[in-house]
This record gives sequence, C-alpha cells and structure tokens, in this order.
Amino acid sequence: MSNTNILYQHGTLALLVPGLLDGTITMKELLRHGDTGIGTGEGLDGELVILDGTPYQVDSNGSVNIVKDDFTLPFANIHFGSYQPLTSVDGISQKELEEKILSLTSTNTFFSIELHGQFTNVKTRAVKKSHKPYDTLAKTAESQSIFEKDTVTGTLLSYYSPEIFDGAAVGGFHHHFLSDNHDFGGHLLSLGTASGDVKLQQFDTLEQHLPVKNQSYMDFDFSGEDILGDIHKSE
Ligand SMILES: [Zn+2]
Repeated sequence: MSNTNILYQHGTLALLVPGLLDGTITMKELLRHGDTGIGTGEGLDGELVILDGTPYQVDSNGSVNIVKDDFTLPFANIHFGSYQPLTSVDGISQKELEEKILSLTSTNTFFSIELHGQFTNVKTRAVKKSHKPYDTLAKTAESQSIFEKDTVTGTLLSYYSPEIFDGAAVGGFHHHFLSDNHDFGGHLLSLGTASGDVKLQQFDTLEQHLPVKNQSYMDFDFSGEDILGDIHKSE
C-alpha cells in the first residue's frame, strides 16, 4: 500500500541556488515515491508535471515531452495522489484562489492542490538546460522562456509549504500547469482567472531525500551564501 500522507522531496530549493544542478535522482526511482508531482531536470532542463504516473516535461521551446526512466532531476516533489474535494471556483483571480484555499485548510502542514478546469491569461515559464560548470540559479534562470495562453483547459498542480520550512521549500504555493491537450504548461508565473473543482490532499509527513552520492553537494560550503534571499529573488 502506498502511503498517501507522505510528501517525498528530492533535493531542496536551497541547493539549486548556488548552482548544484546535477541530476541526482532518476525518473524511474522518483516514480517509486508517487504518481503525482513537480520538478525540474538536470541543469534546470524544463519544468516537470507528473500526473497519474506520467512524467511530462515542458521544455524551453514550449514543447511537452514524456521523459524516459533515465531522465535525471536535481529537485522534485512527488506523492501518491488521493485528493478530496475542497471547493469549486468560478472565474476568480489567482490571489482570490489562494486566499480561498488558505481559508479552508491549515497552513501549518504541507499540502497539494489539484485544480482541473478552465483558465484565462495563464503565464508560465520553462528554463533552457544549462551544462557544467553550472552558474547560479538566478543566472541560469535568466535563460527562461515565457509562454502565455488567453484561454486554456488544464490542470493546475500545486504544493504548499509552511513558512517555517522556507529554505527546504519556498514557503507558500509552488504551482505548475499542464494543458489537457499537452501543448502548453510549465512553472506558473501568473493566471488571470480560474474555474473548476479544487481538490486538496494534506500530508502529515515530509520525507526529505538528499543527494548524498553527489560529491558537489556533499562538499559545498553554504555558509557564505544568502540562500533564502536568493530563493525569493528567483522563485
Ligand atoms: Zn516550479
């Protein structure tokens, strides 16, 4: 039996900041820990959305690809999907959506939101893969492509992290998007309005997996870095 109370996280956002962008887990291994998730590829190779066990990558050309088992990632969140209905929304803004979700659930634990429906003015980004030696997250993220759709039907997949876990994750929401016809998606920058059924899955356990076989990570000195400051600039 898969445990639907566990959020599995590989890597942390903090290790991306100074440019520790090696792929340190394979998709095959990641999918042992869930069927629903988000992440990025080695060298910030696009934005991942995993739905029903299928790993979709939105690359910097805006193409949506299904990645293979040997695709590697420096960072990912994944869990076994078991969502409960939370509420329905009809044409509300991103701010109203987030406030509504937060008013209906506790902000002191990790949770995921899945919203399938109709969206307007959706703006996403995907970064172009960089190669070693890696630059910082902020520098690498400068080579991002931005995509926009006026109206689109799709799935908004989001994770919420409590502010007290800022650093391991970014406190607050992290949204990724994938259109139903798999021609648009990525890391969500903004949306105009959202309509559809909002589903919630709350976790009681964060399983934090670290890349201990990656020498660059194990030897890195984080003491001189303004990790939190840089995370907030980049995300
Ligand atoms: Zn993202």
